[in-house]
Parts: sequence; structure tokens; C-alpha cells
Amino acid sequence: MNINTNTIDNDPISGWRKRPVIDQTGSPLNAMTVDVEDYFQVEALAPHIPREEWNNRECRVERNMDRILQLFSDNGTKATFFTLGWIAERYPQIVHRIVGEGHELASHGLAHFRADHQSRPLFLADVTKAKAVLEEVGGVAVNGYRATSFSITRRNLWALSVLEEVGYKYSSSTFPINHDLYGIPEQPRFAFYPFADSKFMEIPITTVRRFGRNWPAGGGGYFRLFPYSLFKRNLQTVRAEDRQPCMFYFHPWEIDHTQPRIAGTSVKTRVRHYLNLERTFDRLQKLLKDFRWSSVEQVYFADSAPKQ
Ligand SMILES: [Zn+2]
Repeated sequence: MNINTNTIDNDPISGWRKRPVIDQTGSPLNAMTVDVEDYFQVEALAPHIPREEWNNRECRVERNMDRILQLFSDNGTKATFFTLGWIAERYPQIVHRIVGEGHELASHGLAHFRADHQSRPLFLADVTKAKAVLEEVGGVAVNGYRATSFSITRRNLWALSVLEEVGYKYSSSTFPINHDLYGIPEQPRFAFYPFADSKFMEIPITTVRRFGRNWPAGGGGYFRLFPYSLFKRNLQTVRAEDRQPCMFYFHPWEIDHTQPRIAGTSVKTRVRHYLNLERTFDRLQKLLKDFRWSSVEQVYFADSAPKQ
């Protein structure tokens, strides 16, 4: 077999791997993040709910956000909220509360289009407008971005340079696992600088290393699927063995077990979307007590952020 070493050297992922992960070994904090979207905007349900119908759907994100903000307030937790521009335009009061209660406002794009389904000009327009909308409504700088469904993969690595160009300081849009919809298993597992000449940071979702591969350990459906004790142990392992902060994420609809069920979805989609919704809130309460959490800004940019 012919191996073209020139091609390997030019592979962006091997370039990422040559640069060390950012030293966060002394930080006691982990990053708590929420992707602010409503139950009908989820990628898995997209084939069943056209965007034109979004305005006609019952809004549940407001009351779910009320519970989340109260939960964080009760536990003294600060978090980062990756918010859709669509949500900010319709429910500015949600954005005002995020900012007013001392959390970090960040971008989840305009209307939940996957980054890898967009051309470079469309993606540029989307992330530029989303940043402007959120900054206008929130009255604060928006530095962070998370792609819909972690849709920055090998196919569209250019998206990271677009984000840097637009003025984002970091992204949390990659997941170092094998998954049918996303993932770059061989990428760095912890925060790193994708570009040699820039401080733009990519912060992957947390994985735990076992049996020679990475396993998801940072939230989403996995948080509902695995027993809490296993989830907790995985995060403890990352803290003890890797000595790095964890990056955790969930969605407001994941605490809403009475949300309307969408007809016609596959078994896989139903499991991913609806499994153990009634348990999420209790698990979150435990998680907030078992580990120390803060916003991405506080965990990774503490030098430029007010100390907690
Ligand atoms: Zn999302």
C-alpha cells in the first residue's frame, strides 16, 4: 500500500494532534452548557416538522428555561447558554434572564441548520447573523458557538475558520467519538487551538477513554441512557486520569417529559429523544452537587473573565 506522507502531514487533524491540549489541569471547574432550542427544533425530528410549522407549535422552551434558571440559581451555578437566533428574536425575555442572572450568552446558529449541510457562504451568513441578533437582544458580546448536532466534522473543517473570521473566540462543536450523525474519533479530546497562529479554541464534548476508544461522557441522550452512577464515575475518571475540565451539555426539552409526542418517528429517534426524560431533572440536581460547574467563559477564559 502506498502511503502518501505528504497528505498525512497536511491532514488538519494530525496538525491538531501535534499541538498540545490547553493546560487546564489546575482548574477545579467544569463547563455546564445548555443548547437553547424547543422540542420541535431537534435535528432528529426535522423530517417530521417543517420549519414553516415552527411558529404554529406550542412553545415550551420558556417554562423549561424557567426551571433550569431556577435550578442553577438554587445551586449557585453559572452556565453557558448556546441559544438559537430564532429563540432570541421570539423570546427576548429568555435572553435577558440569561444575561441578567450572570450566565454566558452564546450562539447555536440562527435556526438549527446543520453546519455540514450548508455551503461556506450560507454558514458564514448564518453564524454572522446569529451573533448579531444575540448581541443586539442580549446587549453583551457573544464569543462562543456550538453547531447543531456537533456538525463540524472532517467534511467541513473550514467552518472553524469561518467562526474565527466572524469573531467568535471559541467553538464547542466537535465530539471525538464514532457516531452515525457526527464525530471525529481521532481528534484531540480536550480544548485545543485548531490554528497554529490563532487563539481561537475548539472545546470538544467530554469523552472517557476505555478499551482503546473514546466513549461519550458529556451529556445529551447519553446522560439519560446510562445509569447516573456510571455517568458520574466517567466524569470522575476524566477529572482523575486526564486532569481536565469536563464539557457537559443538555437541552431544555430534556427536562420536559410531558412534551407533545411527534407521530411517525422511528424507534431509534423515539429512544434518543424520549428515553428517561422524566429522570433528567433529578439527575441534573445530583450532577450540580457532585461536581463544580461554571460557564465556558469562566472555565477556559478566566484571565479575561471576572473571577468567581
Ligand atoms: Zn441543537
